[in-house]
Amino acid sequence: MSEQASSALLEVNGIEVIYNHVILVLKGVSLTVPQGAIVAILGGNGAGKTTTLRAISNLLKGERGEVTKGSIEYRGERVQDLGPAELVKRGVVQVMEGRHCFAHLTIEENLLTGAYTRRDKGEIAANLERVYNYFPRLKERRRSQAAYTSGGEQQMCAIGRALMSNPRVVLLDEPSMGLAPQLVEEVFNIVQSLNANERTTFLLAEQNASVALKYAGYGYILESGRVVMDGSAEVLAGNQDVREFYLGMGGDGRKSFRDVKSYKRRKRWLA
Ligand code: ATP
Repeated sequence: MSEQASSALLEVNGIEVIYNHVILVLKGVSLTVPQGAIVAILGGNGAGKTTTLRAISNLLKGERGEVTKGSIEYRGERVQDLGPAELVKRGVVQVMEGRHCFAHLTIEENLLTGAYTRRDKGEIAANLERVYNYFPRLKERRRSQAAYTSGGEQQMCAIGRALMSNPRVVLLDEPSMGLAPQLVEEVFNIVQSLNANERTTFLLAEQNASVALKYAGYGYILESGRVVMDGSAEVLAGNQDVREFYLGMGGDGRKSFRDVKSYKRRKRWLA
């Protein structure tokens, strides 16, 4: 995959993450995010997707988690040496799972909180207009309290807020969660436009493999804290195990990786 060969923006090398000093959750995860790519981390509940994103944005401490082995580099610098706010300033921003808009603030006030690392009012106003260009729905709803907006609008607001810090790379946790299929496509289309027009890099964690593989260029499959497979979206989408367990195709009509066949797959992947 040519994207993977270009210069790496993020490099995760064999990280282990432990919560509460005892719970080993990531067991040597490595991945590369090239500049300008859309990379997906796929996997079921509890595979370690969120933990991987939190490790990259240095947000584990608040969860009583720590990276105990390996390293994470952003443009050649160790992220473990940088605080979360410093990372935002340098262009790494995370959109949390579950959206986390401030319910009592309007959409516009929420967006403006994303510019907290910046001072130039003119630039902030220009950035707000740029966000509204990508998310016309947010412009329509700019004066509405976030609490009274739909799930899709809140997801857009969370992404828009992240864009207000002018990021180079956005870590997106489960952008499709709780959204109707049409809205999922709308959100992913915007991600694609941002990637194409602004060269914003995305690392997204998704359980919805079919939509993620449609928009990402490259994917990593995480199972029980380990990367069990990686490849271009095309290669993954054509892989029999991925089709059967993540895309719900084939496999004599079984619909989910969670069914009984997962034992066989685990044996094959973890052997
Ligand atoms: P989901 O889609 O369900 O969020 P995930 O792939 O993002 O799944 P993580 O949230 O990273 O997975 O969780 C990986 C494992 O770590 C799970 O077993 C989870 O119970 C555990 N875990 C996550 N956060 C904590 C925490 N703060 N303290 C202890 N264990 C945690």
